Amino acid sequence: HKVVTNQPVKSVIVIPLIAQKKEFGWFCVFSAREELANTEMDFLGLFAKQIEMAITIADLFQAVREQAVTDGLTGLYNRRYFEEALEKEVQRARRQKQPFSIIGIDLDFLKKINDTYGHNYGDLAIKTIANVLKANARSVDVPARIGGEEFNVLLPGISSQGAMIAAERIRKTIENTEIDTIGHITGSLGVATYFEHSENIDELLELTDQAMYTSKRNGRNKVTLAKPISETYWQEVAVNTFLDI
Ligand code: GH3
Ligand code: MG
Repeated sequence: HKVVTNQPVKSVIVIPLIAQKKEFGWFCVFSAREELANTEMDFLGLFAKQIEMAITIADLFQAVREQAVTDGLTGLYNRRYFEEALEKEVQRARRQKQPFSIIGIDLDFLKKINDTYGHNYGDLAIKTIANVLKANARSVDVPARIGGEEFNVLLPGISSQGAMIAAERIRKTIENTEIDTIGHITGSLGVATYFEHSENIDELLELTDQAMYTSKRNGRNKVTLAKPISETYWQEVAVNTFLDI
């Protein structure tokens, strides 16, 4: 390393910086004096410790955030956790030859709620849906916030018939829940089932999304069951997507 200074350097103090037993850098002090007093050395040592502490805390904070499984606003599971649960569920479904279902939910007209009442009320609408999902979930279900106003619920061991009943119950509860100032909101739902509709995770998520968008196109506040991948008419999907845009 090159040191640029306009002072003559007579001594260099180098203190290794260590966090979690690993050296991650050095704290270097260049002095114009040949010797430093013990109190000065102690002070520099303390200063280095402060840096170590700050870095250690920042690292821990990052690690905790990465390990987080829930979403800050709603307390629902986050996307990362949902994806991990989904992968485990696929293994289980294959082993036990049992289906599972995904319910996809998107809040209707959230942009209008934000524009009319402000972002805080938009957030309140999101929290309301989250609470409905929590209240309706069984202990094995995984209700998750996937994106801003997009939710998925994983229903282990449940066929499309059971999932449609659960989805309809969620739809009705959302519709019937009174929210401060906003009044009533609705959601559009899509349902897809492993084995019945696809045996591929990405395809299954895509089919859930498509079913949800069909609910939107058909007037919102609806539940739609996916079509099996073999029957999915991609040209129709493309045309509808184009029309949406
Ligand atoms: P649609 O019925 O077609 O779903 O209409 P929409 O307005 O809900 O959907 P659109 O995709 O047009 O817009 C979604 C809006 O959701 C835009 C964005 O500002 C809002 N949104 C996304 N995440 C959040 C959030 O965390 N809080 C709030 N308040 N709004 C959010
Ligand atoms: Mg929406």
